[in-house]
Amino acid sequence: MTQASGTIFIVVAPSGAGKTSLVAALLEAEPTVGLSVSYTTRKPREGEIDGKHYHFISHAEFESMISRGDFLEYAEVYGNYYGTSRGWIRSQLAEGHDILLEIDWQGARQVRQAFPEAVGIFIVPPSIEELERRLRGRATDTPEVIARRLASARQEVDMIPEYDYMVVNEQFERARFDLISIVRAQRLRTEVQRVRFADKLAHMGSQR
Ligand code: 5GP
Repeated sequence: MTQASGTIFIVVAPSGAGKTSLVAALLEAEPTVGLSVSYTTRKPREGEIDGKHYHFISHAEFESMISRGDFLEYAEVYGNYYGTSRGWIRSQLAEGHDILLEIDWQGARQVRQAFPEAVGIFIVPPSIEELERRLRGRATDTPEVIARRLASARQEVDMIPEYDYMVVNEQFERARFDLISIVRAQRLRTEVQRVRFADKLAHMGSQR
């Protein structure tokens, strides 16, 4: 049987839109979707584990990975570098696995240039006021950082037409269900199913 190439799902959202919790809920419901662990020069936050949440590396290591061409995409986000491993993505796709990239809009554009068939999903907060309330509620960011994130959020919202799907995270349960539905629908596409069930179809069809 021919092996189907996996699907790349790219999830983008302004910070504070609830992306991380939604992605965690999706992966719990669909455990065969593999989450890409990014490389970053950012320092680990409390509770973050190297190799699980990110591969935490130095600036020098990141730059040598750039020059070796190790990244499928990389970008600078709020003063730190973030990048996706090209090798990991290629091997997962070759084995037919679906993968999910939780990256920023700059990375999303680069990935879609390399893989135009990648599925882009944008998570929208219910309103700019609610986003501001959530960002303030975190209490970790200064007012300047919050203002910068809100300005970025407005710019990111303007880019929504670049994405295939838009999920509004007003009610978590609803948004979770929407995200799961996108992954399921993609997996049920005829071009994917035909490869997956090639033997069955060969047996059922008239050409046997
Ligand atoms: P945080 O530092 O809060 O974990 O992430 C900051 C931003 O960087 C988020 O929007 C996150 O999605 C994005 N990000 C995380 N990993 C990558 C990556 O590998 N590439 C790109 N382009 N952005 C990433």
